[in-house]
Amino acid sequence: MAKLQIRKLGDEALRKVCRPVEAITPRVHRLLDDMVETMRAANGCGLAAPQVGILRRIVVIEVEEGQVIELINPKIVAFSGEQEAEEGCLSVPNRWGTTKRPMHVTVRALDRNGKEIELTGSDLLARAFCHELDHLDGKLFIDIAKMAEDQ
Ligand code: ZN
Repeated sequence: MAKLQIRKLGDEALRKVCRPVEAITPRVHRLLDDMVETMRAANGCGLAAPQVGILRRIVVIEVEEGQVIELINPKIVAFSGEQEAEEGCLSVPNRWGTTKRPMHVTVRALDRNGKEIELTGSDLLARAFCHELDHLDGKLFIDIAKMAEDQ
């Protein structure tokens, strides 16, 4: 495994719409492994492929230690409720803002074996699903957040 460089605000990779993964190759497996290592080394709870300069629809999430969620071509298929909480991003260091997100979010995706999975998360996990999937469409939390310095 290898630690990858995290792209920061201003890098154009963060503003691109990513393409779906067409075939889950060993290269995709290596990328997933490297993304998990990179996320952990940066003490993050989620990382999307464009944050490491790869414009593909892949995210990793770990909001509970040891429970890594890997999502390939994820889509939100249901959401409900609302929450407002503070959010940050490894690509926007040292800045935090309050966002409104659904309280419960269901995503459908492929796992690393190409099997379709459906996961429902609440609270922090629901927020992570929204935040990371937004990255795949070139969106950042600062686009919708009330930033700490504005309050
Ligand atoms: Zn982020």
